[in-house]
Amino acid sequence: MEQMSQAQGIRVGRILGIPIYVDFSWVLIFAAFCFILSQQFKLDHKEWTSAESWGVGIATSLLFFTSVVLHELSHSAVAQAYKIKVLSITLFIFGGLARISREPTKAIQEFNIALAGPVASAVLGGFFYLVSLFFPGNAMISAPLQYLSWANLVLAVFNMLPGFPLDGGRIFRAIVWGATKDFSKATRVAGASGKLIAYALIAYGLGSLFTKNYDNIWFVLIGLYLLNAAQMSVAQVTIRETLAGLHAADVMSLEVPTIPANMSLEEYSNEVLRTGRRVHIVTMGDRLAGLMNVAALNQVPRDEWNMNSVQAVMVPRDKIIWAAPEEPLLRLLERLMAADINQMPVVSYGEDGSAHIVGIVSRDAILRVLQTRSELGAALSHR
Ligand SMILES: [Zn+2]
Repeated sequence: MEQMSQAQGIRVGRILGIPIYVDFSWVLIFAAFCFILSQQFKLDHKEWTSAESWGVGIATSLLFFTSVVLHELSHSAVAQAYKIKVLSITLFIFGGLARISREPTKAIQEFNIALAGPVASAVLGGFFYLVSLFFPGNAMISAPLQYLSWANLVLAVFNMLPGFPLDGGRIFRAIVWGATKDFSKATRVAGASGKLIAYALIAYGLGSLFTKNYDNIWFVLIGLYLLNAAQMSVAQVTIRETLAGLHAADVMSLEVPTIPANMSLEEYSNEVLRTGRRVHIVTMGDRLAGLMNVAALNQVPRDEWNMNSVQAVMVPRDKIIWAAPEEPLLRLLERLMAADINQMPVVSYGEDGSAHIVGIVSRDAILRVLQTRSELGAALSHR
């Protein structure tokens, strides 16, 4: 389970109010699962027909991925008990992913949310094993149940490896967090152990090539995935830490250049070249009409700049995404990235309820703050 924003894939249903998606990569892995399992069942049970081994293989694959969903739902149920909203559950090539709206605020919450998944997998493993005992003479039922029991136990054990962002790494982070009261330090420690585990998996997978054990190439892929995820989580924490306590008003540019709506794009490009400013407020009379920037200008071919006005391509007033001066910078940066835009006007409301644009925050300005603060932080810690 982790926080991540990415394309969602195909929606397949809704459980506990949480939409369930399958990523496109999952479709491939599901087909591969059905194929490998049916071939394995065919090898183990020569008396089965092709249709029977395929039927059992597909049913087992479906039950296995249902188990993965139950693992994620288990995390989600505990998160929701702590009033943390679960946005979605997505099945993808390496398993499941529950997206939560925010990180837990207490170490004990993270501990319990993370533990719930492996516990669910272990319980499912035990459950499938017990049920298989009721069908000793019927291999077509007991064989898949025993496979599901084993697969769920592997899932529980693998997820308990103490490297972030695996569940075990989150539990590890929660313990360090609880002990040191330092969330950032705990994330760095758990991230470092996540990288160690990733390198170990990659080394093991590559080492297996020398013994011609090609199945273990999976360990390399999972290791690379974990390595990337561990690096990203640590980078996120660094950004969060650096921007903590800063608000839109701290970094916004107070100069808000305005242009009239009937200005031609040719004139606008001259204005941009002359002043170096990349974003402008568009007015009509003395009223706000929209927001103009270089990205909007570039949507129009150069030879048509003379024939079009700013009004034709600007972001109209009701489509502009605003920020408030007191908005935390981290949240603002997340919104800029989610909307894939570079600047946001900062609006403040007067006593009479009228809106005034008091400044503009750009992605560049936030990145400059990040860079300056990290250089300053490095300089301070070197003393
Ligand atoms: Zn999990």
